[in-house]
Amino acid sequence: MQLPIYMDNHATTRIDPRVLEAMMPYLTGEYGNAASRSHGFGWTAEQAVETARAQVAKLIGATAREIVFTSGATESDNLAITGAVQAQGGRGHVITQATEHKAVLDTCAWLEKQGCRVTALPVDAEGSIRIEDLRAALRPGENQEKPLLVTILAANNEIGTLQPIDEIGALCHEHGVLFHTDAAQAVGKIPIDVNRSRIDLLSISGHKMYGPKGIGALYVRRSSPRVQLAEQMHGGGHERGMRSGTLNVPGIVGLGAACEIAGTEMEAESVRLAGLRDRLQAKLLAGLHHVRVNGSKMRRLPGNLNMTFAGVDSETRMMGMKDVALSSGSACTSAKIEPSHVLRALGLDDEAAHSSIRFGLGRFNTEEEVDYVADRLIEVVKMLRELSPQFADIT
Ligand SMILES: *Cc1c(COP(=O)(O)O)cnc(C)c1O
Repeated sequence: MQLPIYMDNHATTRIDPRVLEAMMPYLTGEYGNAASRSHGFGWTAEQAVETARAQVAKLIGATAREIVFTSGATESDNLAITGAVQAQGGRGHVITQATEHKAVLDTCAWLEKQGCRVTALPVDAEGSIRIEDLRAALRPGENQEKPLLVTILAANNEIGTLQPIDEIGALCHEHGVLFHTDAAQAVGKIPIDVNRSRIDLLSISGHKMYGPKGIGALYVRRSSPRVQLAEQMHGGGHERGMRSGTLNVPGIVGLGAACEIAGTEMEAESVRLAGLRDRLQAKLLAGLHHVRVNGSKMRRLPGNLNMTFAGVDSETRMMGMKDVALSSGSACTSAKIEPSHVLRALGLDDEAAHSSIRFGLGRFNTEEEVDYVADRLIEVVKMLRELSPQFADIT
């Protein structure tokens, strides 16, 4: 076993060697511009892009023409949300929920400044929206216009909670409101079908699924309904006018390869990851008092575990465990450490949020690593609690 151990696969993933191999020709000899129509360099690049487009589409049950390549899920979220609102007049009601990624929350906050009305639905103790809340929000009040867009993520990046996207999609469809989902954590990890879930717009990120960084995609439904988006990037009219800019051919090829691999391996991989996660969870629950699992134990990503270790500041804990890469329940903004808005939305107080750790298991983690992390963490938590007067006698 090699140290350090990487167990922060919600933040980013290691590129799969097979993905890198698929990309290599396009980082070296095949350097054509996919928009060049007059020579073989361009044709080869274009062919590679179209193959990747089909690979991405297949993983989510879409057609190739519905895939727009972007620089990542942040850009996809911006294009989907702002683009859909602007295409419908630029003002109106947008519905989201409390535990979205900042790429969605900050885009909604920006739209609010432009004159939109934004409703952020609360979540229950497991991190899931209540479908009745969405139904109520979709019903316009007196003197209120019909909502333009619902944006609710598929799987949360901190607690792994899966939102009921089938029900959300059905409800949005029934009301004739567009449904965007940020599926950066879900695609390639759990089965996603844009038609079954009646999704109109869906964001994908390459580096969350063993592909390269700086590449992503947006699924844009082309029929029933045909979704219109206002472009956010002006230029040469690439990607059917929705996203100008010379295509990142190696990145796109890498994303395509990552989707292909996920399509064939996801089923077995998710069983393996859930097994490792459950093993880690069981060991920590057995080895320590005053710990608890955040989010849903049933409806969550297979590789996700988020736990609160009472009395142990997770930043301090990190200091004691430099050989394991984990994430704390806090987000470092420029100056101060803020408690996670996701954990706060579940009802955790600041102290509990600061005592929480996110474990992100991925394709390259092993059982041996899980055992090492569990043992080390139990040791470190007990040690830190011994130093804390509040916990001295209950470890
Ligand atoms: C990582 C992530 C993003 C941002 O994706 P980038 O490709 O890094 O821009 C957005 N939403 C969720 C849920 C994520 O996990």
